[in-house]
Amino acid sequence: MIGLTVLGSTGSIGISTLDVVARHPDKYRVVALTANRDVEGIFRQCRQFAPEYAVMADADAALDLERRFKEAGVLIAVLAGVAGLEHVASMASADYVMAAIVGAAGLLPTLAAAKAGKRVLLANKEALVVSGALFMQAVEQGGAEILPIDSEHNAVFQCMPVDFRRGLDSVGVSRILLTASGGPFRSLSLSQLSDVTPDQACAHPNWEMGRKISVDSATMMNKGLEVIEACWLFHTTPERVEVVLHPQSVIHSMVAYTDGSVLAQLGNPDMRTPIAHALAWPERILSGVAPLNLFEIARLDFEPPSLERFACLRLAYAAIEAGGTSPAILNAANEVAVEAFLTERLGFTEIPGVIGSVLEALPGQQGTDLDTLLAVDGEARQLAEQLIRQRV
Ligand code: NAD
Ligand code: MG
Repeated sequence: MIGLTVLGSTGSIGISTLDVVARHPDKYRVVALTANRDVEGIFRQCRQFAPEYAVMADADAALDLERRFKEAGVLIAVLAGVAGLEHVASMASADYVMAAIVGAAGLLPTLAAAKAGKRVLLANKEALVVSGALFMQAVEQGGAEILPIDSEHNAVFQCMPVDFRRGLDSVGVSRILLTASGGPFRSLSLSQLSDVTPDQACAHPNWEMGRKISVDSATMMNKGLEVIEACWLFHTTPERVEVVLHPQSVIHSMVAYTDGSVLAQLGNPDMRTPIAHALAWPERILSGVAPLNLFEIARLDFEPPSLERFACLRLAYAAIEAGGTSPAILNAANEVAVEAFLTERLGFTEIPGVIGSVLEALPGQQGTDLDTLLAVDGEARQLAEQLIRQRV
């Protein structure tokens, strides 16, 4: 039996992970579940999966959950805060760790899993964007194995030769082609974009996801974060990662080889496919996803993205090119701007402006040790908040 910790089990990826795991009770045993504040959600999951630990990032929520367990006679240990998350990400009974916390909040527990040499199923792209070099170093030193969950990176992983870590040139790969649906507002004019609401931004045409990543998909910052993620995961540079708009979300990404071959991975847009792939790799297991019906899909379209229209994508390319702490600044400013949009304190079209201003005001540094990254993350958040308050 493989012991699995699910960080962020009450979210969209966490729920899909447990859906796949429940189909294979002979293979996987859930050893820990974690959430931020959703006591009700984690309580139900604990009833079903009986882990050793339940962790609440929020201390009051942890007390609440403990009370609920006591009343119900449930014997599951409750931990709290980042220390609790790090514990269940690195403990001996966890062979695999699903990293599905949203945002930089997932950085420390995901790093702990990497240092402890786990198989890390990486959904939490922000952790890698913030800490790129440091994270990959922790993976190497800890002997961890990274299996990408982001559908694009999972697709790229499936289309890469097994020895891609030798360097893309050595294995004959010329480019990575990341597909992007373009989000719900792909065909709106720039003037129509200024009035969009959080609920409209979260209604993605092809994927059902958490609210933060849904807004990122609408601004295409999600694709920008994914370009950065691809550079780290596949040891390459941003010029070799190309974004292709593909509104049907059937091709999840492609790898182009020097001989002219292009390999693609296709499937229905359902995160249970990459989750099942990463859980079972190199084997294959049932995921619950319906088979792809190409006759129903009938056509696949492609177009280049406009960097003028999708300013966030341009900012992300600039941040990875600048390197050092710039991606951490980009990510922190984006998290604050998206939260402000979701709580109706900032307009949709103002999001890139806030991120751009923060990047301009805080020049990136080359240092990428953890203390520097955490300090930079805090500074960028503060400045973004200040800029948003000044606008209102
Ligand atoms: P979500 O908002 O649905 O769930 C987030 C989870 O993280 C919840 O369990 C929540 O309780 C927990 N959490 C939130 N804040 C926390 C904090 N401060 N400390 C500890 N835990 C906290 O998000 P999601 O859509 O499942 O996305 C999770 C991650 O996976 C993100 O990084 C996202 O970019 C990535 N991802 C998601 C999808 C998708 O289809 N949903 C696809 C690709 C990548
Ligand atoms: Mg993705």
